[in-house]
Amino acid sequence: MSAVKVVLPDNSELELPDGATGLDAARAIGPKLAEQAVLVRSNGAVRDLRLPVEDGERIQFLTTRDKDDPDALYVLRHSSAHLLAEAVRRLYPGVKIAIGPPIEQGFYYDFEFPEPINEADLERIEAEIRRELAEGREWSRAEVSADDARARFRGEGEPYKVELVDTAEGAISLYTQGDFTDLCRGPHLQNSKPIKALKLTGLAGAYWRGDERNTQLTRIYGTAFYSQEDLDAHLERLEEARRRDHRRLGVQLDLFHFDEHSPGSPFWHPKGMAIWNELEDLRRRENARRGYSEVKTPLIYDQALWVTSGHWEKFRENMFLIPLGGDAEGGEQVYGIKPMNCPGHMLLFGSGLRSYRELPLRYAEAAPLHRNELAGALHGLTRVRHVTQDDAHIFCTREQIASELDGCVDYLRYLYGIFGLEARAEFSTRPDDKLGSDEEWDFSEGELQAALERNEIPYEVGAGEGSFYGPKIDLHATDALGRSWQLGTIQLDRQMPARFGLTYVGPDNAEHPVFVIHRALFGSLERFVGIITEHYAGAFPFWLAPVQVRILPVGLDHREAARGLARRLAPYRIEVDESDETVGKRIRNAEVDKVPFAIVYGDKESDGALAVRERGGEQTTESLIDLRARLATLEPWQAGAEPSLTS
Ligand SMILES: [Zn+2]
Ligand SMILES: [Zn+2]
Repeated sequence: MSAVKVVLPDNSELELPDGATGLDAARAIGPKLAEQAVLVRSNGAVRDLRLPVEDGERIQFLTTRDKDDPDALYVLRHSSAHLLAEAVRRLYPGVKIAIGPPIEQGFYYDFEFPEPINEADLERIEAEIRRELAEGREWSRAEVSADDARARFRGEGEPYKVELVDTAEGAISLYTQGDFTDLCRGPHLQNSKPIKALKLTGLAGAYWRGDERNTQLTRIYGTAFYSQEDLDAHLERLEEARRRDHRRLGVQLDLFHFDEHSPGSPFWHPKGMAIWNELEDLRRRENARRGYSEVKTPLIYDQALWVTSGHWEKFRENMFLIPLGGDAEGGEQVYGIKPMNCPGHMLLFGSGLRSYRELPLRYAEAAPLHRNELAGALHGLTRVRHVTQDDAHIFCTREQIASELDGCVDYLRYLYGIFGLEARAEFSTRPDDKLGSDEEWDFSEGELQAALERNEIPYEVGAGEGSFYGPKIDLHATDALGRSWQLGTIQLDRQMPARFGLTYVGPDNAEHPVFVIHRALFGSLERFVGIITEHYAGAFPFWLAPVQVRILPVGLDHREAARGLARRLAPYRIEVDESDETVGKRIRNAEVDKVPFAIVYGDKESDGALAVRERGGEQTTESLIDLRARLATLEPWQAGAEPSLTS
């Protein structure tokens, strides 16, 4: 019998009989390791312990002690999802099971229940899983033919599994624990002992395969950890995230809402609009200061335009298309609502002969864009169909690229600094479906990478994740809770201007190809409002706050004076709270509404002595003149601090 050799992390070699599994290798090292092992990791990929090792490969064991390792958590949570499915099948005869993967914060499993279930059912299901854990479960793995798998799941009345077998690629494996067998690639734990803490966290609707034309299933979310302390810490973080959830705060602070008549398209209420307009003002002011020109281009274009831009081929699935009746030949004309501003700006640039003296030309437009995101992917303001980018396209010569990229970096540092957002950069390179040649991409990628290096911005590389027309730098910000969000993007493109035949006349009187930098710094304004709502937990800084000052007249007699004070505080956003609540209650309401300043106005107050209460602080006495001077220091350009760009 021949042998295989594997290399361990300490560089020692281990010889094993041919066909030995990861578990065999662990046993050869020691019984304790074999007991605690949860996964084999080799070359960054993870593998089930039950699978054979390969000759010459370097392997590492993950064990129950790697309790914070994402791979170790994934296998624990994936196995937990199977326990959930086992419990649900036992408790709800007739239920059909779909898929149950691990996700970043836990796991889920999708079911089609014969009768709808509600939150209260979760306790019952969780109790059943706890019973399974107390009993103990072992996982076994088997490979079967597609026919056998199909027959098995058809016999069990599991149509979703049959469909998954039909579309499966490669070997089909089944994992069994207790009386439950699932179609699954694994990997899985050896047994349920490492699952020390498990909690079902919620219910949601989810379409089969994420497609709204399919049956709506019930998704049960849960999470699991290698220790109870880890679960407790996680639940605390969840509670904080819930407290900050922009969808909840959006309702509480009366900022926006959604309606089923236009999914994924926010309705901005007056208070939300106040925030929106402040961001727009900031954008306009800075654009003007930095040499951008505001433009406005149409929202819908004919199919020919989208064919030229490449969107028809590469992005049509994500576009809203409008058939517009017959043309001269009697055929249907199809128009598309713009998902991006670029093609319109290309037409604008191409509307006249351009000289090198005009370059760089920086067109800015924050037009509403529409992208047909799947209903299941929509999420509050962070994933919408109606999206407004703080978009700009910089048309420049090859020689101007570097300084224009530096200008974009300076701009975004300034912008993120105002919000105290820490950004990190991801550099995305040529995708498989790229337009243009490798030489062209070498140049564009080189320019972006050089800009990152020159500006000392740490970055990660997202190989193959660029746009189809060019490489990009994506900026991700980390919010106050340490969660990462995609914000802006800077992309260098020579494809789209070439497709539109855009050139400029150089000093040599010859035509030269023009380059385009696409850049959005807030990214989507909708998403940005969502992110900063969570970042500030709804307590917006003074300049952004929907209501900046609330005046509370003590009695009926003070209302007229309070209104006068409000007029003298213009142009700030002022409210006079004339409700019949007690002063104490109204002060508390101002805190709940996160209003930055509340002014109590009674007999003792006058312009010379106002009772001013700053959010979260004590009441102080201040003259109107002093207060106005103080408010004037709270503008965004004074709030800006140098941000740090971290990796
Ligand atoms: Zn599975
Ligand atoms: Zn663009």
